[in-house]
Order: sequence, then C-alpha cells, then structure tokens
Amino acid sequence: MRIVLTGPPGAGKGTQAQLLSQTLGLPRISTNDLFRHHISEGTELGMRAKSYIDAGELVPGDVTIDMVHNRLIEEDTRSGFILDGFPRTVQQAIALDEILNEQLNQLWAVLDFEIAEEEALIRMLSRGRVDDTPDVVRHRSRLYNLEKQALRDYYAPILVTVRAEGKVEEVRARTVHALSEQIPLLQYSELG
Ligand code: AMP
Repeated sequence: MRIVLTGPPGAGKGTQAQLLSQTLGLPRISTNDLFRHHISEGTELGMRAKSYIDAGELVPGDVTIDMVHNRLIEEDTRSGFILDGFPRTVQQAIALDEILNEQLNQLWAVLDFEIAEEEALIRMLSRGRVDDTPDVVRHRSRLYNLEKQALRDYYAPILVTVRAEGKVEEVRARTVHALSEQIPLLQYSELG
C-alpha cells in the first residue's frame, strides 16, 4: 500500500503518518526526518539543505527528489510506505510517479489534511521547533498555499480530504475512514 499525506505545516500529518505506519506495518518516510538525519550526520546533502530549512524555504527539487529516491529503493519499502512531507510540488509529484513507474508500482491514495490556518499556527508555535518561529512558520504556510491547488488537481483521482481539526484520536478516526473510502478492499481490522 503506497500512501501520501499532504497538508499545511501544523496539520498533524507527522503524527497521523506515524500512527498509520504502526497500524499498517509500513515504513513512514518523512522528508523532514530524512533531512534532519542528514544534518545530524553532517552529510553534504544535510549541509545543502540546512539553510533552506532554517529559513522555511523548500529545499531544491533535485536534492529532495534524490534523497527520497534513495530511500524508496530500500528493501523495507517493497510492500509499501507512508510518505509524509513529499511531494510538496507538482515537480516532485511527477518525479515520484517516475520512481514508482520504474518499480511498476503506483500510489493508492493521497490523504489531504485540511485545517484552519490559525489553528495550524497555534499548533506549530507550541511545539518549539527551531524552524517554528512566527516569521518562518508564516512563510512555510504561504509556500504551501502557493502549490496546494496544483497538487490537489494533480492527485484528484486518488485524493481524499481529511479534516485535521480536533484531538489526535478524532483525526485518526477520520483518517482511517477516508482511507477505507479510497481503498474499499482494505479491511477495517487492518486499520485498527
Ligand atoms: P515539514 O516538517 O514537513 O514542514 O518540513 C520542514 C522543512 O523541511 C520544510 O520547511 C522544508 O524546508 C523542508 N522540506 C520538507 N519536505 C520537503 C519537500 N518535499 N521539498 C522541499 N523541502 C522540504
């Protein structure tokens, strides 16, 4: 099962991706985690990415796509993955399709998390990440809004919207419901 989670910063995608990953027994691949791993290891990729992340800019496409590509050819992604934070642009979505085509695979569903901007802002400012200062947060939200519609159009046939307001458990229930609508063969028992 190959699933993508999209949505604005602060929508709680990371938390829901983690929960889905545990339930479905699939790896969660988060671009944010991959970048942070590279930064802490001091790799060249990490050094290139850091200034963009600190400023709330998107890391350039080629760097990000190569990093995700390398992760998606690892053995543990064979039966599927939960992708969190990628793709964020149509360019990245096209690159992802190319990677999956090479493997004769395709995406099953794109879960699009929706939340009012003020609530996302409150969530982000309370989690204390280095790139969660008010200015950087606003900039990241603005960048997301610029690409949002194009990405939704690109994924229209497999896109399901999930309301991301409320408690983690409520959002989780909506996520499971959305997924079972998009993938009717999926048994509720598998979704917990
Ligand atoms: P996130 O926690 O997913 O909002 O990611 C934090 C930061 O990592 C973003 O502000 C970007 O600088 C970078 N990043 C994460 N995913 C991507 C992506 N798909 N393309 C480019 N930059 C990304």
